[in-house]
Amino acid sequence: MNCKCGGVLIDGKSTYRNSSKNFTFILENVPAFKCMRCDEVQYSEATKDKLQKMINRLERDSNEIITGKPSSNLYDY
Ligand SMILES: [Zn+2]
Repeated sequence: MNCKCGGVLIDGKSTYRNSSKNFTFILENVPAFKCMRCDEVQYSEATKDKLQKMINRLERDSNEIITGKPSSNLYDY
């Protein structure tokens, strides 16, 4: 696995951050690959998928808290 800059990616841990309208999501010690040349961090497809599911859930649940409306019709992902 190589970075798009051509650098070598090494195994490691990273802090994942995702800011949205209602919250900032930070998860520490996420398995990640880091480029030795440009320091870009990349996640495996499986990790990205899991993170995205957590974000989706947080979006939905935070919306529920903020609007007070249950969103049970959005459970089907
Ligand atoms: Zn790179």
